[in-house]
Amino acid sequence: MAEFTEVAARVWVARYEWFDANVTVVGGDRGLLVVDTHGSSAAGRAVVDDVRRLGAGEVVGVVNTHWHFDHTFGNEAFREAWGAVPVTAHEDAAEELARRGEEIRQRYADAPDDPHRDDVLATRVVVPDDTFSSARVLDLGDRAVELVHPGRGHTAGDLVVRVPDADVVLAGDQVEESAPPAYGSDCFPLEWPHSLDTVLGLLTARSVVVPGHGAPVDRDFVEQQRNEIGIVAQTVRDLAGRGVPADQALAAGEWPWEAARLEQAVARGYAQLPRGQRQLPMA
Ligand SMILES: [Zn+2]
Repeated sequence: MAEFTEVAARVWVARYEWFDANVTVVGGDRGLLVVDTHGSSAAGRAVVDDVRRLGAGEVVGVVNTHWHFDHTFGNEAFREAWGAVPVTAHEDAAEELARRGEEIRQRYADAPDDPHRDDVLATRVVVPDDTFSSARVLDLGDRAVELVHPGRGHTAGDLVVRVPDADVVLAGDQVEESAPPAYGSDCFPLEWPHSLDTVLGLLTARSVVVPGHGAPVDRDFVEQQRNEIGIVAQTVRDLAGRGVPADQALAAGEWPWEAARLEQAVARGYAQLPRGQRQLPMA
């Protein structure tokens, strides 16, 4: 159970202990849009109960900010509670969830001591059925909600949700507050800074930005995180340009966060360098 707190007019955020994950509700006169659904059907049902207790209306749509299961495995609960509501996501997010959902369940099957194992195994993965490639507007009646794919970063299929009349942006895991940004095996470390430039372009000095994990932040916070993510990208380029092999780069670089968190940033960054920059310099 968690409490939905209004962070701007008719935009409520609940922060859940497991993964410190945020779920956001956006209200309009047609009903409620739920952004991200937590990590299992059981966890999603707890969110459904919290949305009902909020008492702001009925859910008419669900959005997934990206495919990761801590944002999508609760989808089923919203279909159980509110029927065939559309689940909207970037097309790559839908594809990845369809392709890799089972892999996540298997990971939990192999983790007998995890307290969430049974819940994850009992989850039926509901893949988004309403997808787009670059931008989309959802009509909540008296309010339009904009979904924007700012480019690849945390994953290939990240989206941010903008509620223009409330000056709110829900950033998914393109921005994190309670931990450094997560570079996983599906990240795009060299493109991430540019994607955040697009996100920054949607923000004003007064914007409320809801990260995928942690407390709401402001534009300055996003700008600083963009710069740190930019340093990671530039460091990968510099090391590769100096001929440092990929397997020595982590130890050789100076990073804004502890190196252990950046293994995939380096591996993926090296693999994604343009061809010419991947070659060792001539001796
Ligand atoms: Zn994620």
